[in-house]
Amino acid sequence: MNKYHLITFGCQMNQSDAERMETILQGMGFLPTEKKEEADIILITTCSVRQSAEDRVYGLARNLNKLKKKNSRLLIGVTGCMAGRDTDGKIKKRLSSFVDLFFPAHDMTHLPVMIAEKWPDISLNNSCVQDYLTINPNYHVKYKAYVTIQTGCNKFCSYCVVPYARGREACRSVKDILTEIKGLAANGCLEVTLLGQAVNNYIATDPESFSKNNPYHDHFAALLWEINQIPGLKRLHYTAAYPNHMTDEVIDALNLPLQVNYLHLPAQSGDNEILRRMNRRHTREQYLEIVEKIKAKRPGIALGTDLIVGFCGETEVQFEHTVDLFRQCDFDISYHARYSTRSGTLAAKVFKDDVSKEEKRRRWRKVQDLMVETTMRKNQKYQGQIVSVLVDRCEDGVCWGNTNEMKLASFPGTPDLIGKIVNMEVERADVWVLFGKKK
Ligand code: SF4
Repeated sequence: MNKYHLITFGCQMNQSDAERMETILQGMGFLPTEKKEEADIILITTCSVRQSAEDRVYGLARNLNKLKKKNSRLLIGVTGCMAGRDTDGKIKKRLSSFVDLFFPAHDMTHLPVMIAEKWPDISLNNSCVQDYLTINPNYHVKYKAYVTIQTGCNKFCSYCVVPYARGREACRSVKDILTEIKGLAANGCLEVTLLGQAVNNYIATDPESFSKNNPYHDHFAALLWEINQIPGLKRLHYTAAYPNHMTDEVIDALNLPLQVNYLHLPAQSGDNEILRRMNRRHTREQYLEIVEKIKAKRPGIALGTDLIVGFCGETEVQFEHTVDLFRQCDFDISYHARYSTRSGTLAAKVFKDDVSKEEKRRRWRKVQDLMVETTMRKNQKYQGQIVSVLVDRCEDGVCWGNTNEMKLASFPGTPDLIGKIVNMEVERADVWVLFGKKK
């Protein structure tokens, strides 16, 4: 029996793609293995967000190639963003001595054919589907799932490889999405996270599938409303939202019953000139206005963001505008990147990466310290409150999971609670975890 081993880097979209590849491989009769030494095929789903992420893959492929000494049949494949953005073939060439298969994620539909070309002894029982998003992911747990509703991106932020790696924005049909989520809910799924690069710019290919009594006209808000009608689901989450597409209707939909009490809204910078250079379609003022509307509609919502420090030409004053934006928005969580040039992007072509490494590190530290201080202060407010926790794991009598605000929580408990939503009274809060007891 052939065995496969998957290695996945990067975002939840990559996770979801890897789950789709599992469906294909299992459809071919392959079995999963945790041990790469036992595998006949190893597939690496890659991330290109930073050069260091790509460098890791070159080293990994070289090391995995050594396993071929013991198993000459072993196939090593690379997919994901590195394959997607390799328009000039340089990445493929660099990996060619170690890697047998190299394909962008959407070409996974051809995986059976690609494997059969290498192993003529296997028979093909899969017919290729055109759209890889119609492949149902092989979900590892029953109680929560990532559901991709959109792939690719048309925004072309000047620092970002995604539009090159994943192509232009394309959305799944309402019918497909609802069928998938209804199936998940019927099977015990409690929490669904909708995935897309600018997820709230969802444009339905079949708007006639929306219910007649759906109160929204904005397609994303209308989709959220439809999902809210599915029995059994308890939580609905989406990522990543693009500021300009937080329309009044999408903001209104934050109050739908299943919506988690958290929104991730990448700002990237708090300075208008830097935002312009980043080719973001929003200004600082527009971002602040959207945050104000969100907080007015759903007071107490936890807000998260992404920020890049040290972008090309960023002055101290411009960086301070980002710090100030952070203070004004009072984010619950923020993910910080020190800018690094990605080949093929607009920023790599037209701007100079002229902020020194030391300065980037200092700016990163400053905003990171601010986030730690803010998160700590905000988490303290949960002390004495009851929060709901979807339990993910239990080790040595301690359960771990996420609250409705997407904060990590922990309490003494037993493994039978895994996959259940449990009320917890918060007794102690630190920066990264709310600790408490089951209520
Ligand atoms: Fe990249 Fe911008 Fe698209 Fe996000 S919105 S995936 S940062 S191009």
